[in-house]
Amino acid sequence: MTVVTRFAPSPTGRLHVGNIRTALHNWLLAQKHGGRFLLRIDDTDAARSREEHVEAIRADLAWLGLHPEREERQSARFAIYEAAFERLIAQGRLYRCYETAQELDLKRKILLGRGLPPIYDRAALALTEADHAARAAAGDKPHWRFMLDHDTPVTWDDGIRGPQHFDPRQMSDPVVRRADGSWLYMLPSAIDDIEMGVTDVLRGEDHVSNTATQVQMFLALNAQPPRFAHEALLTGSEGKLSKRLGSLGVADLREAGIEPEALVALLARLGTSDPVDPALDAADLAASFNLAHFGRAPARFDEAELQRVNAAVVHRLPYDRVAALLPAGMGAAAWEAIRPNLAHIGEAADWWQVIQGPIAAPAFDEETRAFLAQAAQVAATLDWANPWPALTAALKDSTGRKGKALFLPLRQALTGMDHGPDMNALLPLIARDEAVRRLS
Ligand code: GLU
Repeated sequence: MTVVTRFAPSPTGRLHVGNIRTALHNWLLAQKHGGRFLLRIDDTDAARSREEHVEAIRADLAWLGLHPEREERQSARFAIYEAAFERLIAQGRLYRCYETAQELDLKRKILLGRGLPPIYDRAALALTEADHAARAAAGDKPHWRFMLDHDTPVTWDDGIRGPQHFDPRQMSDPVVRRADGSWLYMLPSAIDDIEMGVTDVLRGEDHVSNTATQVQMFLALNAQPPRFAHEALLTGSEGKLSKRLGSLGVADLREAGIEPEALVALLARLGTSDPVDPALDAADLAASFNLAHFGRAPARFDEAELQRVNAAVVHRLPYDRVAALLPAGMGAAAWEAIRPNLAHIGEAADWWQVIQGPIAAPAFDEETRAFLAQAAQVAATLDWANPWPALTAALKDSTGRKGKALFLPLRQALTGMDHGPDMNALLPLIARDEAVRRLS
């Protein structure tokens, strides 16, 4: 059976690191098995869903390189939900209720006050057709609940959490449709997973109790439930669920100079004991992606670690991938020379400035100035294809300087800096006349 996974965001806001991770893991799981990855826009909530968020979700996934094979929208599928809804009514699995939010709240408080779990008491099941007719005559519209099968315990073998067991008697019959006819998330999601042939539902552990309910919905709809796996939630580096993580998204990370390859590399392994592999191609991460390696403890997202992975990725990025992001005129040789010194691609501009000049000349003492004047004379005579070894060898012979005393003033005069790229690679990029000028 082909593996089919889906990422099902609600377009009520931008994607944040937590749901980007969920999207990525679904993509990796599909890739690993040569399967299919779908994007399902959960936009049943017309009031909170926004088209701009749908577009941002698409753009964010594209930036990450996670291309869904197909995109579906729940708002275009109401006829499908309606048909399943009618079937479930005919089977006696849906029933009409009229309790107001205040009444339900009161019922919950009474139960909690008696130390009992706040489970819906199914009072509406006692209503007769005459009661419903009277309600309708008074203009009251019902909301609908799904009747759990109390005699069938819910079990599944969770891909991350292991064997799960829920007693439906300890669960409330969920409301699936509001009085105004709008859908809650639970039932349409199960219908879609069946319709779209989803084989693996991989999502956050905040959905575990939804799964217990949805397993019964799959069975009521005559379908085999998919495999389920629930990931531990993401926490900030301080180990707590952080507000910042709930809003940290692609736009912020991009602005901070984070490359998609780095975010993908880190998030692919976050929550596992596997080391982060700064792979440039996410497909390389898929083969080793393994749900069994995920732990149940919250996964820590550390921005400092992301910066380190970003640097490791930048050091490996080929020129073709970055050419459009570099200053005009900067070629492959310059990129390769400076790449090991960058934490972010944007810093390439600073080194390009160093290569092109002008640079701010540091102040040197008289002895160093004399040494540099000699260096300028030697430089003027050199073949510029590979000038650094020749320059330093000649100066070592003529001045007796070595080590730092030899190299540092040259680097300082040539680049204006104490540290930087390997001079073997950098010096040929600085025009000879310009180098001679800087040394003199
Ligand atoms: N729209 C739901 C959410 O964003 C989908 C959950 C699921 O994956 O089924 O939480």
